[in-house]
Amino acid sequence: MIELVSAERCIACDKCVKVCPTNVFDRGPDGVPLLSRREDCQTCFQCEANCPVDALFVAPVTHPLPDDRAVRDERHLDRTGLLGSYRRHIGWGHGRTPGALRAVGPRLPAPDGRPPAPPITS
Ligand code: SF4
Ligand code: SF4
Repeated sequence: MIELVSAERCIACDKCVKVCPTNVFDRGPDGVPLLSRREDCQTCFQCEANCPVDALFVAPVTHPLPDDRAVRDERHLDRTGLLGSYRRHIGWGHGRTPGALRAVGPRLPAPDGRPPAPPITS
């Protein structure tokens, strides 16, 4: 569930507004997205994944959390590195390691027949 948009970080690029499959956001008067239809959030993380400045936080739960929870507190999210953490984890963003390189999968033999390398895990 989308929990927070950081007005401090947002650069009003509209990417989250456009990528959201359920039209949760409206562009606010200052360009910062408003959570106009938060109850329609599908917890798909696409807004957080696409935000170029890590201004969003989607909690990995399917219901809204109470306002007094730490995940609604921007200072807490900033301090703990949770803002934009999904995007960081999947490796989207300049200079980051693509998540596919850290994914766990079956061992595949090298093209030259050498034994498979150990899996890379995060
Ligand atoms: S998590 Fe998905 S459904 Fe929810 S606001 Fe972000 S893009 Fe929209
Ligand atoms: S994607 Fe990020 S920077 Fe762009 S409008 Fe949304 S919150 Fe703001």
